[in-house]
Amino acid sequence: MSQRVLVLGGGIAGTAAAIALARRGHPVTVVERDPPPADPTADPFLHWPRRGVPQFRLPHGFSARARNLLLRHAPDVLARLRANGVEEMNLFKRLIPEDQWVAADDTFTNVWARRAVFELALRLTAEEEPGVEFRCPAVVNGLRFDWTSAGPRVASVRLADGDVLTADVVLDCLGQRSPMSRWLAAEGIRVPTEVQDCETVYYSRYFRFTDTCELPRTSVATLRGEFADGWFIGFPGDHDTYAFSFECHPDNRNARALRHTSIWEAVARGIPALAPWVDPANGTPLEGVQVMAGNRSLRRRYVIDGQPVVLGLLSAGDSLCASNPAYGWGSAMALTYAFAAGEAVDVGGGDPVATALAYDAATAREADAVYRESASMDRARIYRITGQPVPDEDKAEMARQDLISAALSGGVLHDLELGRAFNRRVNLVGPADAVLDGTDLVRHAERLRTPA
Ligand SMILES: Cc1cc2nc3c(=O)[nH]c(=O)nc-3n(C[C@H](O)[C@H](O)[C@H](O)COP(=O)(O)OP(=O)(O)OC[C@H]3O[C@@H](n4cnc5c(N)ncnc54)[C@H](O)[C@@H]3O)c2cc1C
Repeated sequence: MSQRVLVLGGGIAGTAAAIALARRGHPVTVVERDPPPADPTADPFLHWPRRGVPQFRLPHGFSARARNLLLRHAPDVLARLRANGVEEMNLFKRLIPEDQWVAADDTFTNVWARRAVFELALRLTAEEEPGVEFRCPAVVNGLRFDWTSAGPRVASVRLADGDVLTADVVLDCLGQRSPMSRWLAAEGIRVPTEVQDCETVYYSRYFRFTDTCELPRTSVATLRGEFADGWFIGFPGDHDTYAFSFECHPDNRNARALRHTSIWEAVARGIPALAPWVDPANGTPLEGVQVMAGNRSLRRRYVIDGQPVVLGLLSAGDSLCASNPAYGWGSAMALTYAFAAGEAVDVGGGDPVATALAYDAATAREADAVYRESASMDRARIYRITGQPVPDEDKAEMARQDLISAALSGGVLHDLELGRAFNRRVNLVGPADAVLDGTDLVRHAERLRTPA
């Protein structure tokens, strides 16, 4: 049964959901505050103003899960990326001998693209979809509810220009700072939310390889390490681009100077592993330093004790569950929720309770796992950096995280099974917390940690 769907927010989750829903026969309107890409043939990194997405020009790695989901649900988006010259890369297969490959290793292939380029492919595909209409630039600024015997139900959505829109299903894809739970709270509707501050500031910069660069270009993907004020990590991009991010604790006063391009460059030049990559002979900067702080892992719950807290409303992407950007899971999860929303609207068949429960059944286990792993890894790092003692109630979880990180960082290059476990974890091939599920792997990891 066809349902009219209003998607709030046209980022990764909203645009993918629009494609998924329209292809299932549901007419979709996407309300997005930013303008559309003015020239779809121009580099969107430079020419698509996306103030609604503060991380638009910060480095993104697109995990294998993101690619696997596109292959399954929207292969034309992947085809569009390929046609635009975007590369896919399976570093795991590249690093191990060919006679050791197994079929499942194919699930570890990543997409090497800047976020702007990845998002543009989704956007252009959605724009071509007959059942999708974009209303942009247009700002959502509130909802109205009807109180039914089954609970509160979304009646309409208000836009800043005064227009009021109605739909059978509203999908909140407004991102990590979505005001939805605030709007709901104003009506007395509580959305239980867990939050863990990432306590990380990112100082990033994109470059483009020069024609004369002779560096082994793919190895930018494996460049990572510690420096005096935190961590650095390399990101491969599309069209000869690549990026580095410094990740530092917000209390680190020294690190704050990294927002100045000259200091960022001087620090990068002082790190032997990074120096050649920031040498003007090898790479030309595309931008000054991009700084981002204030990210949080977050999990909002819309179904409590088997009951939806509100009807006619689903939440997808970062507004439902956000993780630390450093783990590179957000876009893949945004696609996961988007495609699940398409299925849930079908399964619900016009019944808002059935739709909410079908969506929760499809997404809650994974969202819980992503939140738990992201927040736990962050607490482990924060205890280490700040020297805070681990509280008793967190000791078991910290011991678990310690085992995972010792196993996965120590074993990757020496042990294929742990290498595969590492790749499943970083690529979210399977739930985020399933990494050492096999008892054998746990024993194996313990042996590696405490050699006889
Ligand atoms: C610094 C940083 C680095 C990251 N790196 C990675 C990475 O390497 N790999 C990865 O997978 N993920 C990464 N992420 C996470 C990834 O960016 C998000 O998970 C992803 O963008 C979530 O998609 P979304 O659609 O939920 O939200 P968004 O992409 O944020 O989209 C939200 C949309 O809603 C619109 N909007 C907001 N408010 C309104 C309103 N009132 N009215 C109308 N429209 C509105 C915005 O303009 C925007 O288009 C990173 C995030 C950050 C912050």
